[in-house]
Amino acid sequence: MIVQGKTPKTLAEDFSKAFGTKEYEAYRLLQTESAFMMEQGTLAAYKEDGVDKYQFLATLDTRTSDICRDTDGEIFEVSKAVTGVNYPPLHVFCRSTTVPYYEDSTGGTRAARDPETGKTVKVPGDLSYKDWYKQYIESNPEAVLAEKKWKNRYADRKQFEEYKAVLGADAPKSFDSFQNLKYNDIEKWKELQAAYKIQNIRNRIRSDSQSKIIYIGQQNKHIVGTNEYKQYAQQFANIKQFGPSRLEISNCRYSC
Ligand SMILES: [Zn+2]
Repeated sequence: MIVQGKTPKTLAEDFSKAFGTKEYEAYRLLQTESAFMMEQGTLAAYKEDGVDKYQFLATLDTRTSDICRDTDGEIFEVSKAVTGVNYPPLHVFCRSTTVPYYEDSTGGTRAARDPETGKTVKVPGDLSYKDWYKQYIESNPEAVLAEKKWKNRYADRKQFEEYKAVLGADAPKSFDSFQNLKYNDIEKWKELQAAYKIQNIRNRIRSDSQSKIIYIGQQNKHIVGTNEYKQYAQQFANIKQFGPSRLEISNCRYSC
């Protein structure tokens, strides 16, 4: 794709048409493959130019994987570079890269993403991922929230779809508002969870999957005072277990 000069996105469309794979899967494959080719090119250049050591550089934004955050700033010998272990890409969609490392280097600058504006800014070259995170993200509630939403996006998307299916118009209107509610408004989130639970039970009772017929003979063993209950309770007593679950019928409308 580098040779053809196409972006992974347009190539993914071609690829998925040709092979019938889902576009996203194709995109992921090409993106990772492309990163691999680029990084292999750099590694070959290090060897050719006699560079002994390289420094691992993760992307300074909140979408960076945990493994790349941890590896950021570490220095490795070019001769010991192993792709996927200490040399990028470390995983699918990895955006990490490397720079040559010289013992006497004075730092320079590196790029980071400003959490407020989303724009690229320059920060000191020796600022590690951990220091950048402390300085720019931890102190900024908006950035912390944005990171949480990003990290949990797959599980949250699935949950949002379930909530929409059960609650219909009562579910939050967009995925973003669903996540904001979940992480920013504990009270409203609790209410929504309760509404989801109750609606689920209602739906089950209304559906055909839940039988509404009461078979007296079978229910009797759960009703205190019947012979069936006494017999059934004895079975539990024999094996020294609690049980059976029971229904007590009284005139109280609520618990009393
Ligand atoms: Zn990575």
